[in-house]
Amino acid sequence: MTNYELGKKMEAEIMALIKSIQYDPFLAAKVEREAAGYLLDHADQIEDRGRDGYRMSSAGDYADAQGSCNRRAYMVVEERVEQEPLDGRVLLNFSYGDMIEALILAYLKQLYRFVGEPNHKVLLNVNSGSEGGVDVSLPGTVDCIIQYEGKKRVVEIKSVNSRAFFEIKKSGSRVSRASTHYQHQCYLQAMLPEGEGGGIIISINKDMGYIYCEFVDLDPTEVLTVVNGVRYLQGSETRPPRPDRNKSDRFPCTWKTGRCGVYEECWKDGV
Ligand code: SF4
Repeated sequence: MTNYELGKKMEAEIMALIKSIQYDPFLAAKVEREAAGYLLDHADQIEDRGRDGYRMSSAGDYADAQGSCNRRAYMVVEERVEQEPLDGRVLLNFSYGDMIEALILAYLKQLYRFVGEPNHKVLLNVNSGSEGGVDVSLPGTVDCIIQYEGKKRVVEIKSVNSRAFFEIKKSGSRVSRASTHYQHQCYLQAMLPEGEGGGIIISINKDMGYIYCEFVDLDPTEVLTVVNGVRYLQGSETRPPRPDRNKSDRFPCTWKTGRCGVYEECWKDGV
């Protein structure tokens, strides 16, 4: 089966399960209990996450991907600029997304065999080849690994708005959600040998309830882009320039909150 066919098959399986739940209150209760447990796991991880180093979840920033900003990454990690608080509307939106992602994880648990526990921490260590040993170390948290059609697949679940969802369906995560793509590629590399089976990015349209399952393979050159981006930031003595507004249809200064988290500091000189 092609990756496209695998995706269609999985989408049908998940949707069939969701439909069946309306006739099975015991299964519904089980799924909701499991989802609540995953949500608690997730809350624990947020608490001890911090922003004191480079992480796979910000891989798009390091790869300087469209819609990302390596200047923000530099300011947060190298300069330790304190991040501006998010407003309540954004936090509510994030919480809503976390709940949907936990629910999808619980659905997957009913359908497929999990390899290890969901929400487990992984570490990608890269050696520069010099005597210095590991020079890039990226921690991350993998949503889950499932056995699917004879292979272990590293799964990343993302809830997105309707516009983003249809962009992903049309162009794939590599083009339309590069930050998710690079993060997932790092997971695949860190999870070798499991990562050799490839991975799945499951996008949920939180406005309309659609699901899109995108089967992808590991591309080590993509991981190298992230790693080299981290090396650049680690070795840089000044902030990288701001992204070119004219070259991006998702200029990152408006990222998520209308602010990137270090907006005031970034633009304090007004230039
Ligand atoms: S304000 Fe814009 S350019 Fe500055 S760090 Fe944030 S996203 Fe990057």
